[in-house]
Amino acid sequence: MPQEMTALPVSRRALIKSSLAAGAAAALIGAPARGQTNAYHVVVAGGGFAGATAAKYLRLWGAGRIRVTLVDPNPTHYSCIMSNLVLEGKLGLANIGFRLSALGAYGVTYVRDWVAGIDAKARLVRLNAGGWTPYDRLVMTGGISFKPVAGLDPKVTPHAWIAGSQTTLLKSQIDAMPKNGVFVMTVPPAPYRCPPGPYERACAVAAILKARGGTPKVIVLDANPAIQAAATTFGKAFSQLYAGIIDYRPNARLLSVDAATKTVRTSIGNFVGDVLNIIPPHRASTLVRGAGLVPAGSDFAPVDPLSYESTLPGFSGVHIIGDSQATKQPKSGHMANAQAKICADAIIRLLNGGTVADAARIASIATNSACFSPITLTEASWLTANYQYDPTTKAMTLAPGSLAESGGWSTGSYSKMQKWSKQLWSDTFQ
Ligand SMILES: Cc1cc2nc3c(=O)[nH]c(=O)nc-3n(C[C@H](O)[C@H](O)[C@H](O)COP(=O)(O)OP(=O)(O)OC[C@H]3O[C@@H](n4cnc5c(N)ncnc54)[C@H](O)[C@@H]3O)c2cc1C
Repeated sequence: MPQEMTALPVSRRALIKSSLAAGAAAALIGAPARGQTNAYHVVVAGGGFAGATAAKYLRLWGAGRIRVTLVDPNPTHYSCIMSNLVLEGKLGLANIGFRLSALGAYGVTYVRDWVAGIDAKARLVRLNAGGWTPYDRLVMTGGISFKPVAGLDPKVTPHAWIAGSQTTLLKSQIDAMPKNGVFVMTVPPAPYRCPPGPYERACAVAAILKARGGTPKVIVLDANPAIQAAATTFGKAFSQLYAGIIDYRPNARLLSVDAATKTVRTSIGNFVGDVLNIIPPHRASTLVRGAGLVPAGSDFAPVDPLSYESTLPGFSGVHIIGDSQATKQPKSGHMANAQAKICADAIIRLLNGGTVADAARIASIATNSACFSPITLTEASWLTANYQYDPTTKAMTLAPGSLAESGGWSTGSYSKMQKWSKQLWSDTFQ
């Protein structure tokens, strides 16, 4: 319990630390001189956890000198965070949906469109509707995309790893499962979005099926050799709380899917279920890959963690944040929010003719991640980690002793989960 008491405040402190760091940046840029309002234009592609935070904080800290255009084809962003509660019927889709136009309150201009191409040399971005728009700095997000899997059609066997219609499709399939039904899910190889997320999904589905009675099964086919996050918590949940329901199988590499016979083929054998929840292997968003920001042989975009600017030649002025970037920090919404603030601070400094690499700033570069997981219908667990910049390796590294998990689940953590998600949503989208 004392451990739980410290978990959330640690994250909050780090958020506040980020805010203070960038407050200094806002002071640096100074008040706009006459005629200098909106002197610069920053385009943000994608309005999820990374993009919405960056757009908002560029306006908040930019002292009125930065015009910010946020482009996203979806006027409402559905949060993956808490989306497993939609499967349980505890929340509706509307409870996890955030209208991007709300950022207009900060002066962000929201444009409903796809970013369809970039010309980094000329600093131009092309929208799907046509025409090229000039920018001074470009922030690219887009989250994740999936590697192809033979036979897989997500409209039939949903991943529900991007929230929205996928979430409601999976919910309707779970709702229609027989009492003694079999749910088969796959866990992609790391790195993937939300390290504890797949194990949380297994627990959420097991909780739903257990409450219905009968002898249901949840088969978890993990491409990895072991549980990837909060292993004590999930190991206990699988072997004790959901003994006889959750059947965890490591080293199960996904080979193909046959939707007609509801069969998953893996490196450890074939599995048949009433519902298949196939979460395919991940890579950077189509947006980021399509722009050439991911080198051949890699899955994610290399960046300098002091600014999140691309380290590839020819992409000066292009920043990548959130799940698409290649630093070894966890792919989480909380982390995307933290990266967005460092990126916004860096952009403001760079537009102001400053540096992102002075000693004081380098010492303050820190990020953090928190994931709360519903384990039963009323209890949750948590996992936190802090990262800091290492000037020797020029990479973000796990802060010693900062990786912590609850090791169990409680109603207290469930109510903290609700508070934390509201705070994060509010800081990002409202
Ligand atoms: C079940 C589940 C539970 C999770 N739980 C947690 C948790 O407890 N804690 C936590 O911190 N994280 C959690 N996550 C992870 C979190 O949701 C992601 O890490 C986070 O959403 C990443 O933010 P992002 O901005 O990179 O991508 P996203 O939030 O996915 O946003 C990407 C945006 O880009 C837009 N886009 C795509 N292509 C284009 C284009 N061409 N032009 C313009 N816009 C485009 C999309 O429409 C979307 O709005 C969870 C994830 C899942 C699946």
